[in-house]
Amino acid sequence: MDNIISNQLTSKGAMALEDQYGAHNYHPLPVVIAKGKGAKVWDVEGKEYFDFLSAYSAVNQGHCHPKIVNALIGQAQKLTLVSRAFYTDTLGLYEKYITDYFGYDKILPMNTGAEADETALKLCRRWAYDVKGIEHDKAKIIVCADNFHGRTITIISMSTDPESKAGFGPYTPGFEVIPYNDLDALDKALEDPNVAGFLVEPIQGEAGVMVPDEGYISKAYKMCHEKNVLFIADEVQTGIARTGKLLACDHEGVHPDILILGKALSGGVYPVSAVLANDEIILTIKPGQHGSTFGGNPIAAKVAVAALEVVKEENLAARAERLGKIFREEMKKIDTEMIELVRGKGLLNAIVIKPKGNKTAWDVCLKMAENGLLAKPTHDHIIRFAPPLVITEEQLMEAIGIIKKSLLTF
Ligand SMILES: *Cc1c(COP(=O)(O)O)cnc(C)c1O
Repeated sequence: MDNIISNQLTSKGAMALEDQYGAHNYHPLPVVIAKGKGAKVWDVEGKEYFDFLSAYSAVNQGHCHPKIVNALIGQAQKLTLVSRAFYTDTLGLYEKYITDYFGYDKILPMNTGAEADETALKLCRRWAYDVKGIEHDKAKIIVCADNFHGRTITIISMSTDPESKAGFGPYTPGFEVIPYNDLDALDKALEDPNVAGFLVEPIQGEAGVMVPDEGYISKAYKMCHEKNVLFIADEVQTGIARTGKLLACDHEGVHPDILILGKALSGGVYPVSAVLANDEIILTIKPGQHGSTFGGNPIAAKVAVAALEVVKEENLAARAERLGKIFREEMKKIDTEMIELVRGKGLLNAIVIKPKGNKTAWDVCLKMAENGLLAKPTHDHIIRFAPPLVITEEQLMEAIGIIKKSLLTF
């Protein structure tokens, strides 16, 4: 066994280990990745794949981006963690950099997307009581059906996905669910004076890359403001150049009251998440009222600055915009009944698969893996395609060829 773990590990062996010793809370494709660079990954036998999942858009800057990895290594050799009990020579510089970058007064640093969402919900409630003047414990936050904001008890309490939610009760109260992309429903929900916030994904990623109607985000933002309700954008998956702009909200010129970031904030190198807001909101939480041992640690601070610099230096937003158009056009040209619909923005795209006989999206993904491209179905019949944004046009065309060839074998 020692020998297996050290260097003789085959794909089969690695899968057997995970299966036996790990909780079964995921259903991975049968591929064992050992190495990554840019838009590509390699399995333990050395087979090469395009990565069209990018760790759910955490690896926008490409696998093992040298600048980000060097930031990690450099800081790891100097200081890794002291907690927020003390100041460090890294956090303030990061805080200044990211607040300038996104245009907010302040940041509250956390580690994972779910933690950042939780933090945003806490901030929204505190703002409701301390600033808006809602009676204590009465604040309501509006969320959308088919949302995905993470896996904590409070977050699944807002979920409408039975797989995420069922069997984990009792649930956290204080949320009202309305249909996504439905301004009338939002208008009605906003009539309640106890509503403090509206939490929304500008494109619903996990739901299957659901792109709302043009104008939805800007109108929703305006309606919230008319009712003194905070517009809270979860850009954990859509943010940081993925959809062809720095933020998906930028497509409609919306600057959210609370912005939630995660995933690509570190380029997939380290867990880094953030909540950004202006003083009126973010200063409602006082010393001792919220925190995280690892939040804002020196490695996270250095890695996040490097990851954000890469996005600008390599013009990743413009690249995602341009390559995304090519991708959708090429997908629409594929002559197969199995593609029911192509949708997306920038390099966050999906195809809706119509099963052929007993062949489903899962079988398509297995076939693509065999042909050298990794993607994963979401909700059985949808395949999300989200390569690292550093993918070249030539690589993209090669990848499109693999997708086409795979679909046409059915
Ligand atoms: C992935 C995701 C989260 C949760 O992030 P974790 O780091 O997995 O906790 C939250 N919101 C959205 C929109 C996401 O895609």
